[in-house]
Amino acid sequence: MTEAWRPDDDGQRRGASGPVRVRVPAKVNLHLGVGPLRRDGYHELNTVYHAISIHDELTARRGDTLALTMEGEGAGELALDDTNLVIRAAHALAGYAGVLPHARLHLRKQIPLAGGLAGGSADAAAALVACDALWGTGLSRDELAGIAADLGSDVPFLIHGGTALGTGRGEAVSPVLARPTSWHWVVAIADGGLSTPAAYRELDRLREAGTAGPPLGSTDALLAALRQRDPRVLAAALGNDLQDAALAMRPALAETLKAGEAAGALAGLVSGSGPTCVFLAGDEKHAVRLAADLTAAAVCREVRVAHGPVAGARIV
Ligand code: ATP
Repeated sequence: MTEAWRPDDDGQRRGASGPVRVRVPAKVNLHLGVGPLRRDGYHELNTVYHAISIHDELTARRGDTLALTMEGEGAGELALDDTNLVIRAAHALAGYAGVLPHARLHLRKQIPLAGGLAGGSADAAAALVACDALWGTGLSRDELAGIAADLGSDVPFLIHGGTALGTGRGEAVSPVLARPTSWHWVVAIADGGLSTPAAYRELDRLREAGTAGPPLGSTDALLAALRQRDPRVLAAALGNDLQDAALAMRPALAETLKAGEAAGALAGLVSGSGPTCVFLAGDEKHAVRLAADLTAAAVCREVRVAHGPVAGARIV
């Protein structure tokens, strides 16, 4: 259990007395339109983010220094020092709020590393929400979103969750107001990761060579499809400009996409910069059947079922 900060006798803010546990989802992009390269080195994006039910969990406890431990996906591989997005987020929040960055943090990771599901950004979002409660800094959602945007383009969305439109380099997020509908997904996790910057560079190279597909452009068709609440309509509107780049870097993903199609997925696409592939199912039962068939096809490291949209980084 956590408690909100309240003034001590001496008027100091105290924060939570017990551990703060935050759950944060992975994201997929239902539409990832990549525009031109900007002068700051980022591409202009037109994207629809969607939070799905694969979660990381971050627990924050009081401590005399800042320390991070972890278990699960990437344990033993991922550095736990100042390069980790959890530590960077804690420092960023402490610097903004003028408090000492002291906490014992433990990460339970289910989101694969460098998988195109924004796991690192999710962990940064979780750290902001957890440390804000632990330290009683009491920042507004807008203030947290501002710090989040400096940490990474996807971080503001992971605080937000749900389904949302992302513009700019992806950091400007506005919710998509659709009547509540649950969409069912099968997630095919590949062996190893793909570098996001490398995927963007590959897309630039394919575009220069004239071998990339036409850019997706506006999100209008996708947003209209979401409003219809029919998975077949949504399936026809999904798209990802980075898919060609991911396939060029990891040709084996074509087999994964083909296997999903053969198993009866309504649609399949590479998630973000890959190599995770996601498949849309008609309903939960269909997703379970599809996951079994995809597992039998042995075209990826692991298959999971998920649904979305789900909430962003939240204290549990
Ligand atoms: P995106 O979809 O946002 O492009 P991704 O899902 O492909 O990201 P991430 O798992 O977010 O990839 O990790 C990208 C890189 O960020 C990793 O290779 C790793 O070096 C670094 N990183 C730093 N902190 C973390 C963290 N807590 N979890 C995962 N990666 C981290």
